[in-house]
Amino acid sequence: MNAFPETPYLLADPSRYGHVTLLGAGPGDPELLTIKAAKALQRSSLVLYDHLVSEEILALAPATAERLYVGKQASRHALPQEQIIELMLRLARSGRSLVRLKGGDGYIFGRGGEEAIALAEAGVPFSVIPGLSAAQGAGASAGIPLTHRDHAGALVFATGHLRSDRQAVDLDWEALARPRQTLVIYMGVGTLPVICRELVAHGLAADTPAAIVERATMPDERCLTGTVTTLPMLAAQQKVRTPALIVIGSVVGLRPLLAQRRRETNELEACA
Ligand code: SAH
Repeated sequence: MNAFPETPYLLADPSRYGHVTLLGAGPGDPELLTIKAAKALQRSSLVLYDHLVSEEILALAPATAERLYVGKQASRHALPQEQIIELMLRLARSGRSLVRLKGGDGYIFGRGGEEAIALAEAGVPFSVIPGLSAAQGAGASAGIPLTHRDHAGALVFATGHLRSDRQAVDLDWEALARPRQTLVIYMGVGTLPVICRELVAHGLAADTPAAIVERATMPDERCLTGTVTTLPMLAAQQKVRTPALIVIGSVVGLRPLLAQRRRETNELEACA
């Protein structure tokens, strides 16, 4: 059975196309949703959502709203990206307005850019509501200020995802290994050993503090800290799983002072 609706007909008149709201749901804790995002959900009649979106946030849509899971997760694959775009375009061109709900911020490693380009090119009206990205959530809840005048004057968000040929992580290691910056790596759980090894090989000090924050802002958040040399082993020993963010830089060393006390029961490893 096809879980996704076949649209009955497409409108010839673009002025009657539905409106698409690309909406960022924030990092996990439902209270970190913006007021603007909550209002858009409360007005929605159709929501296309990804796997990093919590039940509580989905529940803000009216009971009568249709909810379609289109997210991608290795074990629960729903739709490839091209088909998500295709479906959104079909729905909007048939006059349906919808909310496209994504974890974090849609424009930060959320493929929101691709979706917005497709909408713009098709003449579908859309708006973008930002969400707090996982990096901001993790920084606050794990006690790691991502910038600090004494530690980091630059902040880099990078992907640890494997290249499409699945052979290597394709990053500018020399740039990432520079001092006085904080690196936040998304989608890097599987490639953590490669990332740490390449950074050190390109000149990053082997004792640079590093953390991995699993399920940031959620009740079962875990944070492990060590150095770029020790973190891969720690993460493997403690079976860290996605979603998790890697934070590298001397700001990680501020965590013992700044970690929220109520989270101490979740600690696995004290910061060195
Ligand atoms: N658009 C999202 C990122 C999507 S990419 C954002 O702005 O946050 C998916 C990756 O984001 C995951 O592999 C993980 O690295 C990170 N991520 C998302 N939610 C997270 C969370 N609650 N805790 C830690 N990492 C998270």
